[in-house]
Amino acid sequence: MINETMKHLGEKRSCIRELFEYGKMQKEIVGEDNVYDFSIGNPSTEVPKEIVDTMKNLLDNESLKVHAYTSAHGCLHARKQVAKNLSERSKDTIRAENIFFTCGAAPAIISCIKALAVENAEVLLIAPYFAEYPVYAGYNGVKTVVVEADRETFQINFEDLKKKISNNTQAIIVNSPNNPSGVVYSAETLKKLASILKEGSEKIGHPIYIIADEPYRELVYDGVDVPYLPFIYPDTLICYSYSKSLSMPGERIGYVCIPDCATDGQQLYYAIAGAARTLGHVCAPSLMQWAIADNAQLWPDITVYNNNRNKLYKELSEMGYRCIKPMGAFYMMIEAPGGNSLAFCEVAKQENLLLVPCDDFGCPGYMRISTCVSEDMVERSLKAFKKAIAKYQ
Ligand code: PLP
Repeated sequence: MINETMKHLGEKRSCIRELFEYGKMQKEIVGEDNVYDFSIGNPSTEVPKEIVDTMKNLLDNESLKVHAYTSAHGCLHARKQVAKNLSERSKDTIRAENIFFTCGAAPAIISCIKALAVENAEVLLIAPYFAEYPVYAGYNGVKTVVVEADRETFQINFEDLKKKISNNTQAIIVNSPNNPSGVVYSAETLKKLASILKEGSEKIGHPIYIIADEPYRELVYDGVDVPYLPFIYPDTLICYSYSKSLSMPGERIGYVCIPDCATDGQQLYYAIAGAARTLGHVCAPSLMQWAIADNAQLWPDITVYNNNRNKLYKELSEMGYRCIKPMGAFYMMIEAPGGNSLAFCEVAKQENLLLVPCDDFGCPGYMRISTCVSEDMVERSLKAFKKAIAKYQ
């Protein structure tokens, strides 16, 4: 017999993956240049040369080492290098012992959720949120409770947040820079969030942890600052990934940082390690750990994402779309003309323009476009955006 729940989950791909697969098929029919695929968040900037060179060197000269298992939590050298770099950037004191290497942000988040999955546990999601969170939590025995979107600023709807904290609240996932809105939560927003969570934790008698999902931490525009959360709220678990910042989502490398200031930090570290073990985690890819160790200081080149952001924001706004100007990440959210995102995305699809409805991100009425595409595709896509909105004017 087959587990029907898992079967259903496997059959029903995420709306993003569904569109991405459709796009590939459609390219076979109408030609590569005639499909404008804004669906998936696959970086369109090359992996930094330093990483490629390090990998080549490691493969040529250290083959036995880089193909071997490392400790489950990651090799000491790489954890030390990442900790050193994080300390320099944040001005916090992060040690190798605070770092647990994972296969990207997804298993990092799931491990944190599972580590906190006590009976009746709830985790808060702030809409709009990454569409996979309900899968990460819901299928690991944790109920998700959605804090409604603040549709004016797309920061945090505090009135709703206060209502959603219950005795069972174990954590809140904070994703900034945000996928899909591109919003970066300001220090002011985060301080207010911290004060509400502190008050909530005291009231319910146990900590509410922030699971800070930060794969877009360095992808920010116009000099926007991404505040270091543990200084604002000590009970923070940082989930990081090199998928986006170093353009290597297929390499599956990231980490959880459990800072010393987090309540029960050492026990949590063990629980996260245990949770990872149940997911079949043996170690994060060794080659990538060693490659990161030599390049922890690298910073992404965001030129293309910034050009696309500026161009799309300007051109689409002039056409009559209402866009939320991204401060970070590589997505832009657009209000669906006519108000129905599912309907508009279908209309766009007829022009081979692939947009993701934000319904699964907890924000119906909006659509997400990925700006991590080629500048050439952006240029070619403009006529399709024009045709799609014309049907509503
Ligand atoms: N969190 C957010 C907000 C994301 O956008 C993504 C991927 O798109 C992930 C987590 C998963 O990242 P990774 O590929 O590192 O597992």
